Amino acid sequence: MRKYIFVTGGVLSGLGKGVISSSIGLLLKLQGYSVSLQKIDPYVNVDAGTMNPYEHGEVFVTRDGKETDLDIGRYERFLDEELSAANYITTGQVYWNVIRKERSGKYLGHTVQIIPHITDEIKRLIRQPLEENSAEIGVIEIGGTVGDIESLPFLEALRQMKDELPRDDTFFIHVTLLPRLSTSDELKTKPTQHSVKELRGIGIQPNAIVARCDKPLPESVKQKIALFCDVARENVIEDPDLPSIYHAPLLMFEHGLHDRVAEGLNIEKKPVPLKEWASLVARLENPRRRVRVGIVGKYIELEDSYISISEALLHAGAHEDIKADIEWISAEDLISGSAADRLAGLNGILIPGGFGHRGVEGKLEAVEYARTQKIPYFGLCLGLQCAVIEFARNVLGWSQANTTENDPNTPHPVIALLQEQSQVTQKGGTMRLGIYESVLAQGSISRRCYGQDEIEERHRHRYEFNPAFRDRLEGAGLRVTGTSADGQLVEIIELEGHPWFVAVQFHPEFTSRFLSPHPLFRGFIKSCLEQQSSSSS
Ligand code: GLN
Repeated sequence: MRKYIFVTGGVLSGLGKGVISSSIGLLLKLQGYSVSLQKIDPYVNVDAGTMNPYEHGEVFVTRDGKETDLDIGRYERFLDEELSAANYITTGQVYWNVIRKERSGKYLGHTVQIIPHITDEIKRLIRQPLEENSAEIGVIEIGGTVGDIESLPFLEALRQMKDELPRDDTFFIHVTLLPRLSTSDELKTKPTQHSVKELRGIGIQPNAIVARCDKPLPESVKQKIALFCDVARENVIEDPDLPSIYHAPLLMFEHGLHDRVAEGLNIEKKPVPLKEWASLVARLENPRRRVRVGIVGKYIELEDSYISISEALLHAGAHEDIKADIEWISAEDLISGSAADRLAGLNGILIPGGFGHRGVEGKLEAVEYARTQKIPYFGLCLGLQCAVIEFARNVLGWSQANTTENDPNTPHPVIALLQEQSQVTQKGGTMRLGIYESVLAQGSISRRCYGQDEIEERHRHRYEFNPAFRDRLEGAGLRVTGTSADGQLVEIIELEGHPWFVAVQFHPEFTSRFLSPHPLFRGFIKSCLEQQSSSSS
């Protein structure tokens, strides 16, 4: 069996196609089907690695080191599965493959065209993850909005697949928006009608419409959409604003989207064991305890830049019954000497990954505050590098200590370019990326949190803890508690005499899932609660 569900978007972007794709993927997986989720990003970029988080949100890294769109992270968080490079396609990737084939003479002198060569390559890339993983059902989300020039070749490829495959092998879900006119309090269906018309002009008739709206839809509106868009009434599914994205599978289940899909694809309807999911959602939405966590970053205006981190805190919180109220703190605002005032009252401080010099001095202020005030500290990637620099400057007195990323001439380059990076000139896909193993030290916080000696985590960096300074830093109380298997690369540091100070060179946020939170995030949020009770007693 090999079936395809295609999820397109209408009216405008940002409607939550990713959440709907993840929800239907989850409902099918819980029924026992093997599912593969895939994102098509119609950008010309070959991958998301070179894209600015301001424009595109977080860059998510897969196990095999592909730099992808944040939707891939959402799929993993919902499905509790590891995806790979094959689960992410961009226009750039498609053309890159076709142009490479053309240069090597594989087209035997034929004219290379969008139809059939580009569309054939798209179809091959859509089939690939299902074939690689022997998955039964592929859920493929097409980024952007129907009507965009960029998505045309992709939609044409989907149209071809629909015609080439048996009728019940494909199912199209169109996610649209129903705006409400505030003056008349009226929900308008016209934009949805137009976007379906646009889709039909390309030769695709949606099988189901998921309508985003601020409140549940009246029956009359559902009937109107069904009539004008030529979709069965029960295949018009409302998608009102929800308290959390993890509520969406429960709602889609309630409205029977999984049954409509099963009917359309002619597959067996099986029980959907949603109990564990539902009880976690209930805890998430009614937390018993709350802590204040400050995230000191560079892109705080756009929370999507750190989405895996806020999600990881949320997962850990749902399991520990603690909600982390996140305060987004601009690192640049801490340089003026106001750090202590701004950070007072926080139960934990987290410094995420980042690039370049902007905000680093402010992050160092935040590390110093967490270290000296004994506030739980969790450093991720650049957050480890800042912790090492701060320690070198303020404990060892090396006032010029720095990373060579920001000061190539520092007398104390405590963070320096990885050797394997010294010859790299190309951007995009050239960092130390993807999964690497670490060995944990006995008696460390990290070892306790993970409950095992060896771990694998995902990386995305060019600089590392400089081994030339390791002895002196360790002599002063900085503990290296995780290294690469050969002991050469420092992966985790902790501080002696501090209740919870853990900084890691990797990105634990990428492997936290709703059903299985990351052990370090769990440990961090628990330590925030301890900090809260000790400071109020
Ligand atoms: N800029 C640092 C490096 O390249 C940290 C990267 C990160 O935080 N992801 O090593």
